[in-house]
Amino acid sequence: MAGLQGSARAAGVTDATFERLTQGLVPNMNVIERLNSIWDYLAGLVDDERVAEGQALLAQHADTLRRIEQRYGVDPATVVAVWGVESNFGQTFGTLPLVQSLSTLSCFGRRQAYFRTELYAALRILQKGDIAPERLVGSWAGAFGHTQFMPSTFERLAVDFDGDGRADLMDNASDALASTAHFLAKAGWRTGQPWGFEVKLPDGFSTQGEGRRTKRPVSEWAQRGLTRLDGSALPTDAGSAGLLTPAGRNGPAFLAFRNFDALFSYNAAESYGLAIAHLSDRLRGGGPFATPWPTDDPGLSRAERRELQGLLTLRGHDIGAVDGMLGERSRAAIRIEQQRLGQEPSGRGGQRLLKTLRSGG
Ligand code: CA
Repeated sequence: MAGLQGSARAAGVTDATFERLTQGLVPNMNVIERLNSIWDYLAGLVDDERVAEGQALLAQHADTLRRIEQRYGVDPATVVAVWGVESNFGQTFGTLPLVQSLSTLSCFGRRQAYFRTELYAALRILQKGDIAPERLVGSWAGAFGHTQFMPSTFERLAVDFDGDGRADLMDNASDALASTAHFLAKAGWRTGQPWGFEVKLPDGFSTQGEGRRTKRPVSEWAQRGLTRLDGSALPTDAGSAGLLTPAGRNGPAFLAFRNFDALFSYNAAESYGLAIAHLSDRLRGGGPFATPWPTDDPGLSRAERRELQGLLTLRGHDIGAVDGMLGERSRAAIRIEQQRLGQEPSGRGGQRLLKTLRSGG
């Protein structure tokens, strides 16, 4: 931290602020660790519960969302999908003190320069007094509020949509939804265009070298044998798209257009962009992906995670609250059960373990 103070000063954080807010900090190494497969990730983020809740909120905030669409050109389902993935519609903001997480990430791990910029932005927000220090809590990576903006994003893009003089991303849904639309508009969102859609790859198709950035005209994809899921021809007037195969060529494949890049830029992760894209489709009435993930042990929805936690509790494991989040204690209990059942003790909760425990195994 002593090594950060000089560059914090150069970034507009006074010594007094820096010392007051970083004194006695200890690293929280949990924020360095993350593990997840794409199917576990999406199974928990885009489940029936979240679709139902999102549809209710689309109706509840219809008027605000319409005005937001008029100003920023981003449709309601997309804005609400970001809200649902970012903070479970304002219900999960994260509880980690931002200054501690960002300080830890500024001193450990692989992206220290990036997190230092965010740390200094967080300190500037506190220095200005926009948010009280004890209110500035968020995710492991330093995102906070309804929209889970990073501090530098808050400084650039937070919007006071209801006009009360504060861009309040902690307690005001209108400000938060408008800020999300503002972000996507600045990220190059094209009004009225789709993010993309699932496609079928021809047998033997090589995905080598393909990806989000390798955009080709849809007519070229059609020539190379890609079709709609039902085998019908691609819409060849749809512009250029990259091919996404998040689990390799044997899992679901998608053509992703410019608007997917806007979703991607919200969190710089394709899995994340796909979660929002998919949730927005589900909110519009679309179904789950047609192609299964290439695994014999698919992921669990939050309802199924709660069921698994209940079954673990019944077997005498102390896993804490049954909250649908498979944290450290749940994973430890899962490992013990997997060992007992002769399964690999990965600590991962999937369909296989749930079915075994459900049937009394
Ligand atoms: Ca406001």
